Amino acid sequence: MKILVINCGSSSIKYQFYSLSESRILAKGIVEKIGMKGSFLKHEKESGQKVLFEGEILDHKIGIEYILGVLSSEKHGCISSLDEINAVGHRVVHGGEEFSTSALITDEVILALEKFIELAPLHNPPNLRGIYAIKALIPEIPQVAVFDTAFHHTMPQHAFMYAIPYALYKKYGIRRYGFHGTSHRYVSSRACEILGVDPKTVKVITCHLGNGASACAIKYGESVDTSMGFTPLEGLIMGTRSGDIDMGAVSYIMDKEKIGTKSASILFNKHSGLLGITGISSDSREILAAADKGDERCILAIEMFNYRIKKYIGAYAAAMGGVDVLIFTGGIGENSVSTRVSVCKDLEFLGIEIDQEINAGIRGEERIISKEGSKVKVMVVPTNEELMIAIDTQNIVYGKE
Ligand code: ADP
Repeated sequence: MKILVINCGSSSIKYQFYSLSESRILAKGIVEKIGMKGSFLKHEKESGQKVLFEGEILDHKIGIEYILGVLSSEKHGCISSLDEINAVGHRVVHGGEEFSTSALITDEVILALEKFIELAPLHNPPNLRGIYAIKALIPEIPQVAVFDTAFHHTMPQHAFMYAIPYALYKKYGIRRYGFHGTSHRYVSSRACEILGVDPKTVKVITCHLGNGASACAIKYGESVDTSMGFTPLEGLIMGTRSGDIDMGAVSYIMDKEKIGTKSASILFNKHSGLLGITGISSDSREILAAADKGDERCILAIEMFNYRIKKYIGAYAAAMGGVDVLIFTGGIGENSVSTRVSVCKDLEFLGIEIDQEINAGIRGEERIISKEGSKVKVMVVPTNEELMIAIDTQNIVYGKE
């Protein structure tokens, strides 16, 4: 069973080509700078050998033509014909209130996704472009949409509602949707597999800490709360996003700086977070390095970042009436030893005790990092959204094995 997984961003397309029955990634790569000068496709074969193709990749359809071309090329490819692709799975950011699971893409589903453009104007249009391109280029191959929001469908209403006039929820769908769902779902179920426990018996908190960051409370296998909200701006402090902020401060800044909603959105999405505080970088590696050299704003940004995560862990432990497993994932969660130490510090009262020695050696690998007797199992589980998308795609098109 060969599944192509596609993740279309505004100017990039990431892809991975799986042979799931053999647990192999046959090829992967990225198309970058779509519609700009210097666009290219970087392709990596299963052997690790890399090839670069430069060209005028004006839009997503041409980008996908490049991908299909290289996958089936005699010299660099891994299939002799496009018929060997059994299905295509797409990452789709917003599935609104309609989609609680991944879905086979039909004309009706496409119509629904077009409706959600309003809710995710930056993300759903490129996701849709990828779907249109596959439909045009290899129309007979089934496609599946895997939504970032779907996993959070189980949140109870008291967790997903904002305390604004109810009519606005009804009229515009203003509520918490949550994102990163595929990642939270993957790492929580993988952690349960590693621990040999039934997800339906445990309370899990997952911290996805990358450029975007979110935490999720997963009670007995279901998301019951998550830190991102109506948009991926709410919650934890991120590379360039503010996370939680008083709405009063937002309107005050808009007034004082005489800026409109567009500029305010750019301010809080692109110029805030770690970048906003440090004034140097949104990249945690650079910030950690500068903090080591004594840069005060970098030290402050790190303290703020870690403190916010700690607060969410406390809140979610309260929301679930306890916590059994705490998981770190995403580029920072998987690799930053000091972030994990700082976040877990003083959480011993919850039963969270990490083993400093084990933790210090773990970067980007699956591992239990809590002490032998720690009540809460603390784990590092590298995320793998692409694999989850491939598995969902196979299950939806061909049924569960
Ligand atoms: P995205 O959300 O774009 O997928 P990633 O999950 O790749 O992002 O995470 C990117 C973040 O991970 C960056 O801030 C980067 O500095 C951080 N990161 C990667 N490796 C390390 C490391 N060894 N130590 C600390 N942070 C790291």
